[in-house]
Amino acid sequence: MAAQKRSVREPRPVLEGVIPYDPKYLPAEVMISANENPRPVPAEIQERIARAIAQVDMNRYPDPLANDLRTMIGEAWGYSKDYVLLGNGGDELLFNIALAWGGPGRTMLTCPPTFSVYETNASLTETNVVAIARKPDFSLDEQAILDRVRKGDIDYVTITSPNNPTGGAANIMFIKQLLEATDALVMVDEAYGEFGGESMIPFIDEYPNLLVLKTFSKAYSLAGVRLGYIMAQPQVIQEFIKVRQPYSVDAISQAIGEVVYENRSALQPQIDNIIEERDRLAEELAKIPGIKVFPSDANFLLVRIPNAGRIWQELFDRSILVRDLSASSGLEDCLRISIGTEQENDRLLDALGDILGRSQ
Ligand code: PMP
Repeated sequence: MAAQKRSVREPRPVLEGVIPYDPKYLPAEVMISANENPRPVPAEIQERIARAIAQVDMNRYPDPLANDLRTMIGEAWGYSKDYVLLGNGGDELLFNIALAWGGPGRTMLTCPPTFSVYETNASLTETNVVAIARKPDFSLDEQAILDRVRKGDIDYVTITSPNNPTGGAANIMFIKQLLEATDALVMVDEAYGEFGGESMIPFIDEYPNLLVLKTFSKAYSLAGVRLGYIMAQPQVIQEFIKVRQPYSVDAISQAIGEVVYENRSALQPQIDNIIEERDRLAEELAKIPGIKVFPSDANFLLVRIPNAGRIWQELFDRSILVRDLSASSGLEDCLRISIGTEQENDRLLDALGDILGRSQ
């Protein structure tokens, strides 16, 4: 037997440059950093969830494809279940896009500043990245995107609408133009779609290269449960089924998802409140000297504020956690603030008024 060397050989070389995703989640009284719904699902739905969980056979594997939930979601949009695939959060499905449409020698187009996970997944799968930067107002550079895809070498495109972290939704006329200009798979990430912008889901039958991603983590108040889904024509969904982990959506998540999706109209008042609060917060923040607020269609606001890093710390010292993006390229001096409850938003406004008043 060979002598034990007590060492471990190197992992794949590609990992050398990879920085693990860090949501910078720290405990605070006011948690407005991760774009969650600030309220839990209503109590009567929680009771139904508890009853549904009690029925789950935990000794059995779950239905690998969560067919009941697929059917419910498909029907809500007028499609069969073959147009829908659930995942362990949208995050799992974002990785699956890179596995199925990326890989060595293949290319993704992305439009930064945007959700960093797309690029991380591309690096992990050794997919080339073409970045078409957003304009200074963070809108998409539509002409540059169209010109670039027309070269014919792009395998998949990520369009985030509304965009994280800048907040604006894409124009659906542009997305249709893009779908017609290329045969690349165009992933429209509508994780924040319930808060603004127009959904591309009604157009799936028109475009074989359209894929829409949605999540239960934001509007549906289930970030802790890990449920997301994609919708696309069945031949695209089939390719995702090949690369996915068979049991990634556990039986308890499926049971919770079914109850919440069936009762989703009960969440609409919360969503409406978040939208109203977003507009109020944007207006109030804009009154504080030194703060620039970018328009948002999502459940968060991007603000530019001198010395953002120091302001982040001063807010955290007051137990208010926002997201400091000031180290990200194109987001110098930017903070991202998720919309909280009225009380949380007031507390943020008071704190910022106080901090900025003092620092002048
Ligand atoms: N897309 C975007 C743009 C996001 O911001 C997020 C969450 N931060 C996701 C997808 C994935 O969310 P989840 O995995 O919680 O479904």
